[in-house]
Amino acid sequence: MSAKILISACLLGRPVRYDGKGKPLDHPAIARWKAQGRLVGFCPEQAGGLPTPRPPAEIEGGLSGEDVLSGRGRVIEVTGGDVTAAFIAGAEQAVAYAKAQGCPFALLIDGSLSCGSGFLYDGRFSGGTHAGEGVTAALLRRAGVAVFSDREIAQLEALLPQ
Ligand code: SF4
Repeated sequence: MSAKILISACLLGRPVRYDGKGKPLDHPAIARWKAQGRLVGFCPEQAGGLPTPRPPAEIEGGLSGEDVLSGRGRVIEVTGGDVTAAFIAGAEQAVAYAKAQGCPFALLIDGSLSCGSGFLYDGRFSGGTHAGEGVTAALLRRAGVAVFSDREIAQLEALLPQ
């Protein structure tokens, strides 16, 4: 049985992003893994109960997903709503789904405050970014899932058992 990869659903083109769109990743490895049945799509924000479309949200104060999981940070919508609980619930469901589907790897879109694994937006809705990981990426890593961003497909390919 081939090792499976949990993948951000928006990278498969599913219209799950805050703006109601997908963000399909066109890469030969994605096509190959899809044909092999290795890709398991999942959207933590939808799983956490958030609607689509939904207001953009960022983590307050330039903090990271690990801060949110530890109770030190909040996820706030641009409209002012506190959606911290939904983001944590989505992350917990992502971990449960990865385990249930047998995914030791995850390929997640960077920059998302759920799925980001290298950088995040800085909480001021100004387009500024900082290094850090999102809530789901952080919880998956805590659970032992190896997380790669959409810019790290070559590194994932190198590790993947054939
Ligand atoms: Fe895509 Fe992840 Fe955002 Fe869902 S939570 S839209 S899968 S980046």
